[in-house]
Amino acid sequence: FLSGKRAVVTGSTSGIGLAVARALRAEGAQVVLSGFGDEGEIAALCEELEASHVGSDLSTRAGVEELMARAGDTDILVNNAGMQHVAPIEDFPVDKWDRIIALNLTAAFDACRLAVPHMKRAGWGRIINIASAHSLTASPFKAAYVSAKHGLAGLTKTLALELAQENITANCISPGYVWTPLVQDQIPDTMKARGMTREEVINDVMLVRQPTKKFVQPEDIGEMAVFLCRDAAANVTGANLNVDGGWTAE
Ligand code: NAD
Repeated sequence: FLSGKRAVVTGSTSGIGLAVARALRAEGAQVVLSGFGDEGEIAALCEELEASHVGSDLSTRAGVEELMARAGDTDILVNNAGMQHVAPIEDFPVDKWDRIIALNLTAAFDACRLAVPHMKRAGWGRIINIASAHSLTASPFKAAYVSAKHGLAGLTKTLALELAQENITANCISPGYVWTPLVQDQIPDTMKARGMTREEVINDVMLVRQPTKKFVQPEDIGEMAVFLCRDAAANVTGANLNVDGGWTAE
């Protein structure tokens, strides 16, 4: 049902973004991939998804502008690229703060700013921001990430109001812990910050917050993104849809 629609999915060479790109492609959307990675693997993904790829650095404004210019008219914008850093506030590297705010929040602002004019002309659009349970709640040692994700939730609600009469919806999908490289890579830092073993981090920090005691799967987020693109979801706007195994119900 998405043939003829172009979807830009930021940070889609890995993890959740890749699963969203695959799900949208399966419904016929033309997909533009973004993100870093091995050249050969990215070429294989482009072939698999009949997609193009723009590898610009979205933590810079120029990088977002390059992506949106090379992508062309965008009907579905999925702001997904994001990074994490785990450290106590007094040790939090200031360059990490700047980069996380730039990538997890400012890049979404810029991509929306550049995508909306076409969506308005077309009379249809979907903005899907991959936020986090950390857009609704906090955890210690994640100052930049929690701040950026709360900001992304605010941006999403603002755009939902601005675009409500344009047939353009703006929503957050907020996952709990999804088993992706982003989560796998923060285990060593969390071990250090909390003085824990790997098993303790997985069971006593990560899954302790998820009543299901299971990691969310990237494909679950892909399916939610597809739903938000359906006509049946035309009145779902400004929502923050948690896919977190019950985390934020507590
Ligand atoms: P991931 O590390 O597997 O993938 C991140 C993607 O972003 C990759 O394609 C990477 O190349 C790209 N990327 C990173 N820095 C970039 C940059 N500067 N410019 C362009 N692309 C860049 O991560 P993931 O777990 O799939 O996370 C995706 C999104 O979901 C993030 O916004 C993350 O905050 C959010 N999220 C993840 C989880 C989780 O548990 N994995 C939970 C909640 C929210």
